[in-house]
Amino acid sequence: MESLRRTRESSSDDDEHDPEGPTLSSEWSRIRGLLTAAESRLGDADAAWARVENGSYGTCLRCGSAIPPGRLEVRPTAAFCVACASVH
Ligand SMILES: [Zn+2]
Repeated sequence: MESLRRTRESSSDDDEHDPEGPTLSSEWSRIRGLLTAAESRLGDADAAWARVENGSYGTCLRCGSAIPPGRLEVRPTAAFCVACASVH
């Protein structure tokens, strides 16, 4: 997520017309879709977006470990890794 965000930021805003853009854009849209879907049902989506903005998205707020991508697929707004969520 972080690397994708950085790649996107470093590329043209007009990436829909960039030959290398479609894959990145579709991946970004997919992630955005996951977050948007979560926003419709979870109140902590704003916090997740804030973490996307400040670059801490995907990092456990408690122990600082990377949250497994599979967990973020299931829970896009997850703020803790599996181990910390179980004790939180
Ligand atoms: Zn943790």
